[in-house]
Amino acid sequence: MRFIDTHTHIYDTAFDEDRSDTLQRAREAGVEAFIFPAIDSESHAAQFELTRTQPDCYSLIGLHPTSVNDNPHWREALAEVERLLVACNGSAKGDHTDHSTAPIGSPERPVDHFYGIGEVGLDFYWSNDFREEQTECFRRQVELSIAHDLPLVIHTRSAWDEMLTILEEYKGGARGILHAFGESAEVYERIEQLGGFVVGIGGVVTYKKSPLLESVPRIPLSAMVIETDSPYLSPVPFRGKRNEPKNLVYICEQIARLKGCTPEEVAEASTRNARRIFGI
Ligand SMILES: [Zn+2]
Repeated sequence: MRFIDTHTHIYDTAFDEDRSDTLQRAREAGVEAFIFPAIDSESHAAQFELTRTQPDCYSLIGLHPTSVNDNPHWREALAEVERLLVACNGSAKGDHTDHSTAPIGSPERPVDHFYGIGEVGLDFYWSNDFREEQTECFRRQVELSIAHDLPLVIHTRSAWDEMLTILEEYKGGARGILHAFGESAEVYERIEQLGGFVVGIGGVVTYKKSPLLESVPRIPLSAMVIETDSPYLSPVPFRGKRNEPKNLVYICEQIARLKGCTPEEVAEASTRNARRIFGI
């Protein structure tokens, strides 16, 4: 089977000891591409270094909602996201000329291209005190994604109603992946109505009490991608341990069980969807 890990953070310090072995294990297991969502400037250097040197690794750019919490400088961080995007991708839709004269790999122009805006979103799980700031930051990045014709990779935690209400406003414009989906069929139906979005299914699908056991059979293969979110959210039989991209196979097998199809069909559809969404 061939897979694309549509959401992995193997640039994270959790892999400092064995990053190239981790990549190697994944490639041997059939993982043919790795998508790296950004978090904030603390991890940019490691992330960009990896996507610049590994031809099967692809970077996204964005400011994570929890990096807005308690951060008096979040507006500067958001401005930096915008600056990097323009330096690497050009200024907006239809304009693919490179506006930066800096060489690829320099801090001014760390990669040759970003493949999406992520991960961005709303996370009211840790705190409720930054709802307004997170919402402003998210809306700005949705608008960036539309202006640059890039997919969004969206993180939503304890904020599904707020998230879907915002995305309903951008119906017809915004597109991409609702990552780490773990919700009911009712929530999925609202996503389906949006058009333009697929859900990212990860290790949670292997957990005994997950709402996904009920919702995944209702989600067509054309509307999902698989992801590990490594180092987080390991599937059974590795639950609680560090996750890594080679574990995609367990996620595929469980989705296949729930949908009554083969793991190959799940892997193939997810790969096709991911290639279409990111243009890779
Ligand atoms: Zn993530």
